[in-house]
Amino acid sequence: MNLEAQDVIVRDSQTGRIIGAYPFTEAETGHRVDLALQALNAMCAIDALGIGAMYDRDVRIRSSCRMCGTAIEVATLNRGRELAYWTPETAIVWSGIRYEHGCAANSLCKVLAFFCSDEHLAAWRQRQGEDSRGFRLSMEEGLETGRAIFENSLKANESGAVAT
Ligand SMILES: [Zn+2]
Repeated sequence: MNLEAQDVIVRDSQTGRIIGAYPFTEAETGHRVDLALQALNAMCAIDALGIGAMYDRDVRIRSSCRMCGTAIEVATLNRGRELAYWTPETAIVWSGIRYEHGCAANSLCKVLAFFCSDEHLAAWRQRQGEDSRGFRLSMEEGLETGRAIFENSLKANESGAVAT
């Protein structure tokens, strides 16, 4: 199985060194996730929101508005399946649909981000011009999307390992 082709492993485009195993990366992405006693970098906002359900525990996410840098914090309840709180209350998730070179971590994820408000999402989209297509998600919708992608991914890997 080619992990890279399946978008699981991410390599530095210059050195070829492995810099991430989805959904985590060594690179400073600006999406810090506190999981148990570790602080990890998630590759994007949706990944950060899905990690709790994936690992069956609650997480706290510390990120920032892509437009202005305002701190955004999100915490989960019920082992990553619900939101405990998020600040500021107007914070939202942008799910951009740009996808290049077949690698989510190097392209799509860069346009999956948190914004402090609809106003700042609108301002950022205006600045991006043609590349700004995508979906505006509430924080709840962002969590649902992250869960949909990651909640069963560990189980799927385990059953896949048994089958082969
Ligand atoms: Zn902002």
